[in-house]
Amino acid sequence: MPARDFFHSVMSIGPVQIGTHRDRRGQTRHAAVCTADNCGWSADYTSQSAAQLAARTHRCKVR
Ligand SMILES: [Zn+2]
Repeated sequence: MPARDFFHSVMSIGPVQIGTHRDRRGQTRHAAVCTADNCGWSADYTSQSAAQLAARTHRCKVR
């Protein structure tokens, strides 16, 4: 998992963890981070629903 300042995990959907953190402007971002080995996918979203949707539709490149 990439190092994120103040990353706070809220929930997990499959291998993807949803959490919140603050960006450099101090705004809350909702991050989706895949914890599967050799995947490393992660993305930031402005709403938790968007992060959850991305987590549900995420497909790991590595099986
Ligand atoms: Zn993945």
